[in-house]
Amino acid sequence: MSEIEFKAGPFDGRPMPGEDVVYLNVITDSNQLNRITGYVTPAVAKLVKAAPSLLALVERYARECPSCGGTGTKHVKLFNEGIETDGERDCEDCGDLRAALDKALR
Ligand SMILES: [Zn+2]
Repeated sequence: MSEIEFKAGPFDGRPMPGEDVVYLNVITDSNQLNRITGYVTPAVAKLVKAAPSLLALVERYARECPSCGGTGTKHVKLFNEGIETDGERDCEDCGDLRAALDKALR
């Protein structure tokens, strides 16, 4: 489970005069030593601030996938030259969620 949580730092959200950008300053750890800072478009600032919540939702939906029980794999029957064997394949119902989590966390 993700432990990412952002808190607003000094001057976060302050617009740059004459530009369509805002100052992003979010604290990314409980010790308040690490931050994401810089001027970005308002849309990027919103996305960064929403990232922890979005990530938590994606993790929850992947963990609660009813098709695979949250494992990411499904047990299937495989047939090869008329012989049936048990196998596994990636769950197609939560595969997109897991791919997004991989991009964000790994
Ligand atoms: Zn699944």
